[in-house]
Amino acid sequence: MAEQQQQQQQQQQAQQQGLGCRRLDVVAGHFDLQAAAERAARRAGGRSQASLLARRDVSALHALLEHDNADLRARMKSFFAADPIYVPRYDIDLRDDRELAFERLARFCRAGFISVADFAADPRRIFAAHEVAALVDPSMATKMTVQFNLFGGTVLKLGTERHHAQILRGIDDASAMGCFCLTELSYGNNAVEMETTATYDPARQVFDLHSPTTGSAKYWITNGAVHAQWAVVFARLLVAAPAAAGGGGAGAGAGGAAAGGGPVLRDEGIHAFLVRIREEGGTSKPCRGVRIDDMGHKMGCNGVDNGKLAFDHVAVPREVRLGCAKGRAPLEERAGGGARRAGGRARCVASRSSPSTREKRGGGGAGRLLPLPAAAALSGSSSNVLQAKGFLRLRDRPIPGLGPLDK
Ligand SMILES: Cc1cc2nc3c(=O)[nH]c(=O)nc-3n(C[C@H](O)[C@H](O)[C@H](O)COP(=O)(O)OP(=O)(O)OC[C@H]3O[C@@H](n4cnc5c(N)ncnc54)[C@H](O)[C@@H]3O)c2cc1C
Repeated sequence: MAEQQQQQQQQQQAQQQGLGCRRLDVVAGHFDLQAAAERAARRAGGRSQASLLARRDVSALHALLEHDNADLRARMKSFFAADPIYVPRYDIDLRDDRELAFERLARFCRAGFISVADFAADPRRIFAAHEVAALVDPSMATKMTVQFNLFGGTVLKLGTERHHAQILRGIDDASAMGCFCLTELSYGNNAVEMETTATYDPARQVFDLHSPTTGSAKYWITNGAVHAQWAVVFARLLVAAPAAAGGGGAGAGAGGAAAGGGPVLRDEGIHAFLVRIREEGGTSKPCRGVRIDDMGHKMGCNGVDNGKLAFDHVAVPREVRLGCAKGRAPLEERAGGGARRAGGRARCVASRSSPSTREKRGGGGAGRLLPLPAAAALSGSSSNVLQAKGFLRLRDRPIPGLGPLDK
């Protein structure tokens, strides 16, 4: 028996070693420029470039590695070389490290090499800027990718002309720094299940942005700890369901009323909101109801300020919702009774709540109807209320040791 176990162990070890060797081969292949040059030449049908390295043909290597925007890249490199702020610095204080990365990025932005609008016109300009910036300072490049790509790109793609006029210029010159609040502590890659809510209040025409549990805090948010004044926040949109909606949703009673007699809120799925998170005037003070904590030191890239953010019933105007796609029923139409409004809802159900989508999301996600008490609890400060209603699963409970989101 012991002999058999020993044999099995040896077999496993041999397999692992084989796997390790294959991986090493693959990784090494990425660094074999000569082979890459030959492949490129074969693809181009041209003469072999096998001797590029041997000939130390720098310009040919440049053409191979930097295959677009050569002039732009050259100008960016000259810019970095001319300003002493881009000379590498080591062993500096965390605060200085972050300010240095920010100042480097701000100067680069003000030089006007790229614009967030390039994502629509010529995205390769922005990719080229990333490649060059990463040679100079990876922290600066990380802050840049959040500013232009995650934050700016989302506003560009999902925002209306009003949002564009409001902020695109500030994104370009770094006077409006932003962050991208998607990840939640309990929901990393599984973002569709996230818990942050944006409950529409038709009377005040505002969204009530709220983090109901510790696990719903936005985590590792780049630019969040120090520099971002703005955030694209992803949250679950809850809208009062039409009175004529009838049953069909969890806890929904006849005529769109909850079992307890109140109206129901309809879960419209994850939406993006452009939210100011720090007060105006260049202050680092968070806006009322926004809690920002610093994630502190990391293993590397300490010039990047990562934060965690939570929202305590922050009222934001309805205009801040991004992605108001044409053809979608306006919020009011989804939020009231009457035949016309019920029609609005029907479109909404058809477009957002196909059975396959629901299956993929494990029964949750867009299209759910929540009875008002549960929705109120989602907007309440205690997740215990939610658990009492049976709406939270085990993994949604506040995480021991991290404590509640104190105000
Ligand atoms: C330095 C830093 C900066 C960040 N900046 C931002 C930011 O600006 N904005 C933002 O929103 N987020 C940010 N994040 C968060 C980042 O996007 C998340 O870490 C990422 O989405 C992964 O989530 P998670 O860490 O919770 O891992 P999880 O999703 O919990 O994954 C944990 C492990 O499970 C595996 N796994 C997960 N799902 C599956 C699956 N379906 N099948 C198989 N394996 C799976 C993963 O591969 C991983 O090994 C940042 C993170 C870091 C570290």
